[in-house]
Amino acid sequence: MIDLNLTAEQLQLQTIARDFVENVIKPVATKIDESNNPDFFPWDFCQEVFRKGAELGFTSLLLPPEYGGMARKCIDFVLVQEELGAGDVSIACSYFNMTAAMSLFVARAGTSEQKKRILSNFTSGEALLFSAAESEPAVATSDMFCPIPDPQIGMKTFAYRVSDGYVLNGSKSCLITNAGIADGYFILARTSEEKPLQESMSMFYLEADTPGLKFGKRTQMIGWKASHHAELYLNNVQVPKENLIGTENQAGQLLMLLPEVAIGLAASYVGLARAAYEYALNYAKQRVSWGRPIIEHQAVALKLADMMVNTQAARLMVWDAAVAADTNPQLAATVKAPAAKTFAVDVAIKNAQAAVEILGGYAVLQKHQTGKFLADAWIGYSCDFTKDILRLGIVNFL
Ligand SMILES: Cc1cc2nc3c(=O)[nH]c(=O)nc-3n(C[C@H](O)[C@H](O)[C@H](O)COP(=O)(O)OP(=O)(O)OC[C@H]3O[C@@H](n4cnc5c(N)ncnc54)[C@H](O)[C@@H]3O)c2cc1C
Repeated sequence: MIDLNLTAEQLQLQTIARDFVENVIKPVATKIDESNNPDFFPWDFCQEVFRKGAELGFTSLLLPPEYGGMARKCIDFVLVQEELGAGDVSIACSYFNMTAAMSLFVARAGTSEQKKRILSNFTSGEALLFSAAESEPAVATSDMFCPIPDPQIGMKTFAYRVSDGYVLNGSKSCLITNAGIADGYFILARTSEEKPLQESMSMFYLEADTPGLKFGKRTQMIGWKASHHAELYLNNVQVPKENLIGTENQAGQLLMLLPEVAIGLAASYVGLARAAYEYALNYAKQRVSWGRPIIEHQAVALKLADMMVNTQAARLMVWDAAVAADTNPQLAATVKAPAAKTFAVDVAIKNAQAAVEILGGYAVLQKHQTGKFLADAWIGYSCDFTKDILRLGIVNFL
Protein backbone atom coordinates (compact mmCIF):
# COMPACT_ATOMS: atom_id res chain seq x y z
CA MET A 1 0.00 0.00 0.00
CA ILE A 2 1.24 3.52 -0.76
CA ASP A 3 1.06 5.91 2.19
CA LEU A 4 1.93 9.55 1.58
CA ASN A 5 1.19 10.61 5.16
CA LEU A 6 4.26 11.81 7.03
CA THR A 7 5.10 10.16 10.36
CA ALA A 8 5.21 12.17 13.59
CA GLU A 9 9.01 12.02 13.39
CA GLN A 10 9.01 13.38 9.82
CA LEU A 11 6.62 16.17 10.75
CA GLN A 12 8.94 17.08 13.61
CA LEU A 13 11.94 17.13 11.26
CA GLN A 14 9.99 19.40 8.90
CA THR A 15 9.16 21.76 11.79
CA ILE A 16 12.81 21.88 12.88
CA ALA A 17 13.88 22.76 9.32
CA ARG A 18 11.06 25.34 8.97
CA ASP A 19 12.08 27.05 12.24
CA PHE A 20 15.71 27.02 11.12
CA VAL A 21 14.69 28.79 7.89
CA GLU A 22 12.75 31.49 9.74
CA ASN A 23 15.28 32.12 12.49
CA VAL A 24 18.63 31.45 10.83
CA ILE A 25 18.46 31.36 7.01
CA LYS A 26 16.04 34.20 6.24
CA PRO A 27 17.79 36.94 8.24
CA VAL A 28 21.12 36.08 6.59
CA ALA A 29 19.64 35.69 3.09
CA THR A 30 17.90 39.07 3.40
CA LYS A 31 21.13 40.77 4.43
CA ILE A 32 22.94 39.21 1.45
CA ASP A 33 20.17 40.01 -1.04
CA GLU A 34 20.10 43.64 0.06
CA SER A 35 23.83 44.10 -0.43
CA ASN A 36 24.70 45.54 -3.81
CA ASN A 37 28.44 45.40 -3.16
CA PRO A 38 30.15 43.13 -5.75
CA ASP A 39 32.96 42.39 -3.28
CA PHE A 40 30.50 41.02 -0.77
CA PHE A 41 31.65 37.67 0.58
CA PRO A 42 28.51 35.65 1.52
CA TRP A 43 30.44 32.83 3.18
CA ASP A 44 31.32 35.29 5.99
CA PHE A 45 27.63 35.14 6.91
CA CYS A 46 26.73 31.65 5.70
CA GLN A 47 29.48 29.89 7.65
CA GLU A 48 27.45 30.20 10.84
CA VAL A 49 24.27 29.08 9.05
CA PHE A 50 26.10 25.99 7.79
CA ARG A 51 27.55 25.21 11.22
CA LYS A 52 24.15 25.46 12.92
CA GLY A 53 22.44 23.39 10.21
CA ALA A 54 25.14 20.72 10.51
CA GLU A 55 24.57 20.61 14.28
CA LEU A 56 20.89 19.91 13.60
CA GLY A 57 21.98 17.01 11.38
CA PHE A 58 21.05 18.45 7.98
CA THR A 59 24.36 17.36 6.43
CA SER A 60 24.46 13.92 8.05
CA LEU A 61 20.87 12.68 7.87
CA LEU A 62 21.74 9.99 5.35
CA LEU A 63 25.10 8.91 6.76
CA PRO A 64 25.47 5.67 8.73
CA PRO A 65 25.63 6.12 12.54
CA GLU A 66 29.32 5.13 12.72
CA TYR A 67 30.10 8.41 10.90
CA GLY A 68 27.84 10.54 13.07
CA GLY A 69 24.85 10.10 10.78
CA MET A 70 21.23 9.22 11.41
CA ALA A 71 20.84 6.63 8.61
CA ARG A 72 17.51 8.23 7.69
CA LYS A 73 15.63 7.50 4.49
CA CYS A 74 16.06 9.71 1.44
CA ILE A 75 12.49 10.96 1.91
CA ASP A 76 13.57 12.58 5.20
CA PHE A 77 16.43 14.28 3.38
CA VAL A 78 14.06 15.74 0.76
CA LEU A 79 11.68 17.02 3.43
CA VAL A 80 14.56 19.03 4.90
CA GLN A 81 15.87 20.19 1.50
CA GLU A 82 12.42 21.48 0.48
CA GLU A 83 12.23 23.60 3.62
CA LEU A 84 15.78 24.94 3.14
CA GLY A 85 15.04 25.69 -0.53
CA ALA A 86 11.91 27.62 0.43
CA GLY A 87 14.15 29.80 2.60
CA ASP A 88 16.99 30.30 0.14
CA VAL A 89 17.72 27.91 -2.71
CA SER A 90 21.41 28.88 -2.99
CA ILE A 91 22.06 28.06 0.67
CA ALA A 92 20.07 24.82 0.34
CA CYS A 93 21.93 23.64 -2.77
CA SER A 94 25.45 25.01 -2.38
CA TYR A 95 26.10 24.25 1.23
CA PHE A 96 23.71 21.62 2.53
CA ASN A 97 22.97 19.52 -0.55
CA MET A 98 26.58 19.49 -1.70
CA THR A 99 27.97 18.35 1.64
CA ALA A 100 25.19 15.84 2.35
CA ALA A 101 25.63 14.23 -1.08
CA MET A 102 29.43 14.15 -1.19
CA SER A 103 29.74 12.77 2.33
CA LEU A 104 27.35 10.02 1.26
CA PHE A 105 29.58 9.42 -1.75
CA VAL A 106 32.53 8.78 0.60
CA ALA A 107 30.40 6.54 2.81
CA ARG A 108 29.42 4.47 -0.23
CA ALA A 109 32.56 4.45 -2.36
CA GLY A 110 35.42 5.14 0.06
CA THR A 111 37.72 2.65 1.75
CA SER A 112 37.33 2.24 5.51
CA GLU A 113 40.46 4.38 5.98
CA GLN A 114 38.98 7.15 3.77
CA LYS A 115 35.66 7.04 5.59
CA LYS A 116 37.41 7.34 8.92
CA ARG A 117 39.67 10.17 7.75
CA ILE A 118 37.26 12.25 5.65
CA LEU A 119 34.11 11.76 7.69
CA SER A 120 35.65 11.93 11.15
CA ASN A 121 34.41 15.50 11.74
CA PHE A 122 30.83 14.46 11.12
CA THR A 123 30.92 12.16 14.15
CA SER A 124 31.30 15.18 16.44
CA GLY A 125 28.31 17.00 14.91
CA GLU A 126 30.53 19.24 12.80
CA ALA A 127 30.60 19.10 9.03
CA LEU A 128 33.25 19.77 6.47
CA LEU A 129 32.10 21.93 3.58
CA PHE A 130 32.62 20.01 0.33
CA SER A 131 33.07 20.97 -3.30
CA ALA A 132 32.94 18.72 -6.39
CA ALA A 133 34.73 19.79 -9.57
CA GLU A 134 34.11 18.31 -12.99
CA SER A 135 33.22 21.14 -15.42
CA GLU A 136 36.05 22.90 -17.24
CA PRO A 137 36.31 26.30 -18.94
CA ALA A 138 37.07 25.11 -22.48
CA VAL A 139 34.99 21.91 -22.50
CA ALA A 140 31.20 21.56 -22.77
CA THR A 141 30.11 19.89 -19.53
CA SER A 142 27.40 18.15 -21.56
CA ASP A 143 30.21 15.98 -22.95
CA MET A 144 29.78 13.96 -19.75
CA PHE A 145 26.75 12.40 -21.47
CA CYS A 146 28.41 11.91 -24.87
CA PRO A 147 27.97 8.36 -26.22
CA ILE A 148 30.71 8.73 -28.91
CA PRO A 149 33.73 6.65 -27.77
CA ASP A 150 36.30 9.24 -28.86
CA PRO A 151 38.99 9.83 -26.17
CA GLN A 152 39.44 13.40 -27.48
CA ILE A 153 35.94 14.34 -26.28
CA GLY A 154 35.45 15.60 -22.73
CA MET A 155 37.41 16.94 -19.79
CA LYS A 156 41.12 17.60 -20.05
CA THR A 157 42.24 17.60 -16.41
CA PHE A 158 44.66 14.71 -16.16
CA ALA A 159 46.07 12.63 -13.32
CA TYR A 160 49.43 11.02 -14.18
CA ARG A 161 50.51 8.05 -12.14
CA VAL A 162 53.76 8.37 -10.17
CA SER A 163 55.27 5.78 -7.84
CA ASP A 164 53.29 6.63 -4.71
CA GLY A 165 50.26 8.34 -6.19
CA TYR A 166 49.26 10.81 -8.90
CA VAL A 167 50.08 14.27 -10.20
CA LEU A 168 47.07 16.36 -11.26
CA ASN A 169 47.10 19.19 -13.79
CA GLY A 170 44.22 21.18 -15.26
CA SER A 171 41.62 23.80 -14.50
CA LYS A 172 37.95 23.68 -13.61
CA SER A 173 35.24 26.19 -14.58
CA CYS A 174 34.20 29.38 -12.77
CA LEU A 175 30.99 27.58 -11.76
CA ILE A 176 32.58 25.25 -9.22
CA THR A 177 30.39 25.47 -6.14
CA ASN A 178 32.32 26.31 -2.95
CA ALA A 179 35.69 26.55 -4.75
CA GLY A 180 37.92 28.60 -2.48
CA ILE A 181 35.85 28.21 0.69
CA ALA A 182 35.44 24.42 1.01
CA ASP A 183 37.41 22.21 3.37
CA GLY A 184 37.52 19.25 0.99
CA TYR A 185 37.48 18.91 -2.82
CA PHE A 186 36.34 16.01 -4.98
CA ILE A 187 38.17 16.37 -8.27
CA LEU A 188 37.29 14.45 -11.41
CA ALA A 189 40.33 13.84 -13.59
CA ARG A 190 41.16 11.49 -16.43
CA THR A 191 43.51 8.62 -15.80
CA SER A 192 43.69 7.23 -19.32
CA GLU A 193 44.46 8.98 -22.60
CA GLU A 194 43.27 6.08 -24.75
CA LYS A 195 39.84 5.43 -23.28
CA PRO A 196 36.66 7.49 -23.83
CA LEU A 197 35.58 9.88 -21.06
CA GLN A 198 33.15 7.57 -19.25
CA GLU A 199 35.86 4.90 -18.97
CA SER A 200 38.72 7.20 -18.03
CA MET A 201 37.49 9.34 -15.13
CA SER A 202 38.78 8.93 -11.59
CA MET A 203 37.80 10.76 -8.43
CA PHE A 204 40.41 12.27 -6.11
CA TYR A 205 39.94 13.84 -2.70
CA LEU A 206 42.04 16.92 -1.93
CA GLU A 207 42.21 18.89 1.27
CA ALA A 208 41.91 22.66 0.87
CA ASP A 209 45.55 23.35 1.75
CA THR A 210 47.00 20.86 -0.77
CA PRO A 211 50.01 22.52 -2.48
CA GLY A 212 49.27 23.44 -6.12
CA LEU A 213 45.50 23.73 -5.57
CA LYS A 214 44.46 27.35 -6.27
CA PHE A 215 41.24 29.27 -6.83
CA GLY A 216 40.02 32.25 -8.84
CA LYS A 217 37.99 35.22 -7.65
CA ARG A 218 34.37 34.71 -6.64
CA THR A 219 32.17 34.51 -9.76
CA GLN A 220 29.42 37.14 -10.00
CA MET A 221 26.12 35.47 -10.91
CA ILE A 222 22.60 36.72 -11.70
CA GLY A 223 21.18 34.92 -8.65
CA TRP A 224 22.10 32.39 -5.93
CA LYS A 225 23.49 35.41 -4.11
CA ALA A 226 24.34 33.49 -0.94
CA SER A 227 26.59 31.00 -2.73
CA HIS A 228 30.25 31.07 -3.69
CA HIS A 229 31.57 29.85 -7.05
CA ALA A 230 35.02 30.19 -8.54
CA GLU A 231 37.54 28.64 -10.91
CA LEU A 232 39.82 25.97 -9.54
CA TYR A 233 43.37 25.36 -10.78
CA LEU A 234 45.52 22.25 -10.39
CA ASN A 235 49.18 22.89 -10.93
CA ASN A 236 51.32 19.76 -10.47
CA VAL A 237 49.22 18.71 -7.51
CA GLN A 238 50.70 15.63 -5.82
CA VAL A 239 48.01 13.31 -4.57
CA PRO A 240 48.78 10.15 -2.57
CA LYS A 241 47.14 6.99 -3.93
CA GLU A 242 45.12 6.79 -0.69
CA ASN A 243 43.13 9.79 -2.00
CA LEU A 244 41.81 8.01 -5.07
CA ILE A 245 38.17 7.25 -4.26
CA GLY A 246 37.00 3.99 -5.77
CA THR A 247 38.85 2.31 -8.62
CA GLU A 248 40.85 4.07 -11.31
CA ASN A 249 38.73 4.97 -14.38
CA GLN A 250 35.50 4.04 -12.57
CA ALA A 251 34.29 7.44 -11.30
CA GLY A 252 31.58 7.69 -13.98
CA GLN A 253 29.98 4.48 -12.71
CA LEU A 254 30.35 5.53 -9.08
CA LEU A 255 28.58 8.84 -9.67
CA MET A 256 25.70 6.93 -11.26
CA LEU A 257 25.12 5.54 -7.79
CA LEU A 258 24.55 8.96 -6.27
CA PRO A 259 21.00 9.99 -7.26
CA GLU A 260 20.77 11.99 -4.03
CA VAL A 261 22.61 14.95 -5.66
CA ALA A 262 19.82 15.53 -8.21
CA ILE A 263 17.09 14.57 -5.74
CA GLY A 264 18.33 17.11 -3.20
CA LEU A 265 18.47 19.82 -5.88
CA ALA A 266 14.97 18.88 -7.03
CA ALA A 267 13.62 19.09 -3.48
CA SER A 268 15.25 22.49 -2.99
CA TYR A 269 13.56 23.70 -6.17
CA VAL A 270 10.17 22.44 -4.95
CA GLY A 271 10.91 24.70 -1.97
CA LEU A 272 11.55 27.65 -4.29
CA ALA A 273 8.38 26.89 -6.30
CA ARG A 274 6.39 26.82 -3.05
CA ALA A 275 7.92 30.06 -1.79
CA ALA A 276 7.04 31.87 -5.06
CA TYR A 277 3.48 30.53 -4.86
CA GLU A 278 3.02 31.55 -1.22
CA TYR A 279 4.47 35.01 -1.86
CA ALA A 280 2.10 35.63 -4.79
CA LEU A 281 -0.87 34.17 -2.89
CA ASN A 282 -0.30 36.51 0.03
CA TYR A 283 0.01 39.51 -2.29
CA ALA A 284 -3.11 38.54 -4.23
CA LYS A 285 -5.16 38.42 -1.02
CA GLN A 286 -4.15 41.95 -0.10
CA ARG A 287 -3.96 43.86 -3.38
CA VAL A 288 -7.31 45.36 -4.32
CA SER A 289 -8.48 46.24 -7.83
CA TRP A 290 -11.97 46.95 -9.16
CA GLY A 291 -13.12 47.00 -5.55
CA ARG A 292 -11.97 43.49 -4.54
CA PRO A 293 -8.79 41.54 -3.74
CA ILE A 294 -7.14 40.51 -7.02
CA ILE A 295 -7.38 36.81 -6.03
CA GLU A 296 -11.08 37.17 -6.76
CA HIS A 297 -10.36 37.90 -10.42
CA GLN A 298 -10.41 34.61 -12.27
CA ALA A 299 -7.31 35.43 -14.33
CA VAL A 300 -5.29 35.73 -11.11
CA ALA A 301 -7.03 32.88 -9.30
CA LEU A 302 -6.28 30.43 -12.11
CA LYS A 303 -2.60 31.34 -12.03
CA LEU A 304 -2.48 30.68 -8.29
CA ALA A 305 -4.31 27.38 -8.64
CA ASP A 306 -1.81 26.27 -11.32
CA MET A 307 1.10 27.27 -9.08
CA MET A 308 -0.25 25.14 -6.22
CA VAL A 309 -1.08 22.16 -8.45
CA ASN A 310 2.30 22.19 -10.19
CA THR A 311 4.18 22.50 -6.90
CA GLN A 312 2.39 19.46 -5.51
CA ALA A 313 3.07 17.48 -8.71
CA ALA A 314 6.78 18.33 -8.48
CA ARG A 315 6.82 17.37 -4.79
CA LEU A 316 5.32 13.96 -5.58
CA MET A 317 7.93 13.35 -8.28
CA VAL A 318 10.66 14.18 -5.79
CA TRP A 319 9.16 11.86 -3.18
CA ASP A 320 8.89 9.12 -5.81
CA ALA A 321 12.57 9.58 -6.72
CA ALA A 322 13.50 9.57 -3.02
CA VAL A 323 11.72 6.25 -2.44
CA ALA A 324 13.49 4.81 -5.51
CA ALA A 325 16.87 6.01 -4.18
CA ASP A 326 16.41 3.64 -1.22
CA THR A 327 14.82 0.75 -3.09
CA ASN A 328 16.17 0.86 -6.67
CA PRO A 329 19.17 3.27 -6.83
CA GLN A 330 19.87 2.42 -10.48
CA LEU A 331 16.35 3.45 -11.57
CA ALA A 332 16.57 6.51 -9.34
CA ALA A 333 19.91 7.60 -10.82
CA THR A 334 19.06 6.98 -14.47
CA VAL A 335 15.42 8.09 -14.66
CA LYS A 336 13.63 9.22 -11.51
CA ALA A 337 16.16 11.68 -10.07
CA PRO A 338 16.89 13.52 -13.34
CA ALA A 339 13.14 13.53 -14.15
CA ALA A 340 12.34 15.03 -10.75
CA LYS A 341 15.09 17.62 -11.10
CA THR A 342 14.02 18.82 -14.55
CA PHE A 343 10.35 18.91 -13.54
CA ALA A 344 10.91 20.71 -10.22
CA VAL A 345 13.11 23.36 -11.85
CA ASP A 346 10.52 23.84 -14.61
CA VAL A 347 7.80 24.38 -12.01
CA ALA A 348 10.02 26.79 -10.07
CA ILE A 349 10.61 28.82 -13.26
CA LYS A 350 6.88 28.84 -14.10
CA ASN A 351 5.90 29.82 -10.56
CA ALA A 352 8.53 32.56 -10.42
CA GLN A 353 7.20 33.94 -13.70
CA ALA A 354 3.58 33.76 -12.51
CA ALA A 355 4.58 35.59 -9.31
CA VAL A 356 6.07 38.39 -11.45
CA GLU A 357 2.78 38.63 -13.36
CA ILE A 358 0.64 38.61 -10.21
CA LEU A 359 2.63 41.39 -8.54
CA GLY A 360 2.20 43.59 -11.61
CA GLY A 361 4.59 46.56 -11.77
CA TYR A 362 5.68 46.06 -8.17
CA ALA A 363 7.32 42.76 -9.12
CA VAL A 364 10.31 44.71 -10.41
CA LEU A 365 11.06 46.33 -7.06
CA GLN A 366 14.06 44.90 -5.32
CA LYS A 367 12.22 44.89 -2.00
CA HIS A 368 9.95 42.15 -3.35
CA GLN A 369 11.21 38.58 -3.68
CA THR A 370 10.01 38.15 -7.29
CA GLY A 371 13.29 39.04 -9.04
CA LYS A 372 15.22 36.73 -6.73
CA PHE A 373 12.78 33.86 -7.40
CA LEU A 374 13.13 34.32 -11.14
CA ALA A 375 16.94 34.47 -11.23
CA ASP A 376 17.36 31.63 -8.73
CA ALA A 377 14.86 29.48 -10.62
CA TRP A 378 16.67 29.90 -13.95
CA ILE A 379 19.97 28.97 -12.36
CA GLY A 380 18.49 25.54 -11.66
CA TYR A 381 18.08 25.00 -15.38
CA SER A 382 21.76 24.28 -15.95
CA CYS A 383 23.16 23.59 -12.51
CA ASP A 384 24.20 19.91 -12.44
CA PHE A 385 23.52 19.44 -16.19
CA THR A 386 20.97 21.23 -18.35
CA LYS A 387 17.35 20.21 -18.68
CA ASP A 388 17.94 19.03 -22.27
CA ILE A 389 20.98 16.94 -21.41
CA LEU A 390 19.19 15.29 -18.49
CA ARG A 391 16.21 14.45 -20.72
CA LEU A 392 18.49 13.02 -23.40
CA GLY A 393 20.07 10.89 -20.66
CA ILE A 394 16.68 9.63 -19.44
CA VAL A 395 15.70 8.49 -22.93
CA ASN A 396 18.56 5.97 -22.95
CA PHE A 397 16.86 4.06 -20.15
CA LEU A 398 13.23 4.08 -21.31
C1 LIG B 1 24.79 27.40 -10.13
C2 LIG B 1 25.68 26.39 -10.79
C3 LIG B 1 26.47 25.57 -10.00
C4 LIG B 1 27.35 24.69 -10.59
N1 LIG B 1 28.16 23.93 -9.78
C5 LIG B 1 29.07 23.10 -10.34
C6 LIG B 1 29.95 22.35 -9.52
O1 LIG B 1 29.89 22.43 -8.29
N2 LIG B 1 30.87 21.57 -10.13
C7 LIG B 1 30.95 21.46 -11.47
O2 LIG B 1 31.80 20.73 -11.95
N3 LIG B 1 30.13 22.16 -12.29
C8 LIG B 1 29.19 22.98 -11.76
N4 LIG B 1 28.34 23.69 -12.56
C9 LIG B 1 28.47 23.56 -14.02
C10 LIG B 1 27.28 22.83 -14.63
O3 LIG B 1 27.33 21.45 -14.35
C11 LIG B 1 27.30 23.11 -16.15
O4 LIG B 1 27.22 24.51 -16.35
C12 LIG B 1 26.14 22.45 -16.84
O5 LIG B 1 26.29 21.04 -16.81
C13 LIG B 1 26.05 22.90 -18.31
O6 LIG B 1 27.28 22.74 -18.93
P1 LIG B 1 27.91 23.92 -19.80
O7 LIG B 1 27.64 25.18 -19.10
O8 LIG B 1 29.30 23.54 -20.12
O9 LIG B 1 27.00 23.93 -21.10
P2 LIG B 1 27.30 23.19 -22.48
O10 LIG B 1 27.60 21.75 -22.22
O11 LIG B 1 28.31 24.00 -23.20
O12 LIG B 1 25.92 23.29 -23.21
C14 LIG B 1 25.45 24.53 -23.80
C15 LIG B 1 24.07 24.31 -24.38
O13 LIG B 1 24.11 23.30 -25.41
C16 LIG B 1 23.23 22.25 -25.10
N5 LIG B 1 23.85 20.98 -25.53
C17 LIG B 1 25.15 20.60 -25.36
N6 LIG B 1 25.35 19.40 -25.90
C18 LIG B 1 24.17 19.00 -26.40
C19 LIG B 1 23.72 17.81 -27.08
N7 LIG B 1 24.53 16.79 -27.33
N8 LIG B 1 22.43 17.75 -27.47
C20 LIG B 1 21.58 18.77 -27.21
N9 LIG B 1 21.93 19.90 -26.58
C21 LIG B 1 23.20 20.00 -26.18
C22 LIG B 1 23.04 22.31 -23.59
O14 LIG B 1 21.81 21.70 -23.17
C23 LIG B 1 23.05 23.82 -23.36
O15 LIG B 1 21.79 24.33 -23.66
C24 LIG B 1 27.42 24.58 -12.00
C25 LIG B 1 26.60 25.37 -12.80
C26 LIG B 1 25.74 26.28 -12.20
C27 LIG B 1 24.88 27.16 -13.08
